[in-house]
Amino acid sequence: MLMKCSGRNVSTAEPVSLEFDSVIQHVDPLLQEPEDTWIAPGFIDLQVNGFAGVDYNAPEAAHEEIARSIQAMFSTGVTRFFPTVITGDPARMAAALRNLADARETLENGAAMEAFHVEGPHISPEDGPRGAHPRQWVRPPDLDEFRRWQDAARGNVRLVTLSPEWPGAARYIEQLTNEGVVVSIGHTSASRDQIEDAIRAGATLSTHLGNGAHATLAKFNYIFDQLAADRLAASFIVDGIHLADNFLRVALRAKGIERSILVTDAVMPAMCEPGLYRLGEVEVELKQDHRVVLRGGTRLAGSSLRMDQAISNVMRIAGVTLTEAIAMATINPARLGRIVSRQRGLRGGERADIARFRRINQRIEIVEAYLGGRRVFFAGRDSSPTAPIL
Ligand SMILES: [Zn+2]
Repeated sequence: MLMKCSGRNVSTAEPVSLEFDSVIQHVDPLLQEPEDTWIAPGFIDLQVNGFAGVDYNAPEAAHEEIARSIQAMFSTGVTRFFPTVITGDPARMAAALRNLADARETLENGAAMEAFHVEGPHISPEDGPRGAHPRQWVRPPDLDEFRRWQDAARGNVRLVTLSPEWPGAARYIEQLTNEGVVVSIGHTSASRDQIEDAIRAGATLSTHLGNGAHATLAKFNYIFDQLAADRLAASFIVDGIHLADNFLRVALRAKGIERSILVTDAVMPAMCEPGLYRLGEVEVELKQDHRVVLRGGTRLAGSSLRMDQAISNVMRIAGVTLTEAIAMATINPARLGRIVSRQRGLRGGERADIARFRRINQRIEIVEAYLGGRRVFFAGRDSSPTAPIL
């Protein structure tokens, strides 16, 4: 049974009609003007630590709670994401990965968890680059530990963020990339040589570039070294809090749109009321102004950003077009995250992950979302009907 929906194709602005089952079958031009809705591939978020009150780092996170958080994410247009496990006790990190792998296999919408991102623990121990990661659990790269992660995750770890400042980092990066794992540089105070060695060894990404850095930097530093490296793409947290507007503008020019990726780096209090929350061993506070900080301090501990807002923000702050902003949340992360059948946009043969939205001034508002051809979110009422046509 083929499903159908229509709207303006976000990559061409032309009105189109889409026919799909679990994959897109046809993309046809639409002769009449459609109502003012847009169609894009479902958004992809390579870095989500938790969402809607659920902490993906907690091995005890109940599967029905994970299901509820995924449902909440669909309302933001995200249809595939990488749950992200950060620096922590080795046994708890492996247990969190095992819990996520179980949820991925058993939940109806578990496939939305495309693969897993492990951020840390092989990061800089220094205050600043370490960010909110607990220092006591920072440790050097260890291939045996990586094997334990993959065992627990049943092979689903596809992205690892580390700092190449550790001895042996280049060899470790080579081994991971040989196994098809994407290695990203982040939470680092590495030298230029160490960054270049990491790139030669196969690193292809910078994690939330501009964040996880010293408050005061030398004139020439690891941020420039990563900005200048054409073989590195970069992810950015565009919530208007994590990055100065001018840094974002400059970084996007340096990387070019095709090497730029939007991530939320959302943590558990995202889409919750302001207040105190517990993230593993640390207490964080979601402020009225949407900052998530370590309790009693000002250090950021992830974000409460939603991907639909990140798309609106990057258009407003950096002046990029809607087409460019959506590419940064769809085909670019699909390419960097090695997500098959998601790298060519709205074309026949691609997975039918679809986000329909309205554009209201600089904002986008999600109308409906499809995961592999199944409608998983619908905003209701006056949206155009989507009905089986056969
Ligand atoms: Zn981080």
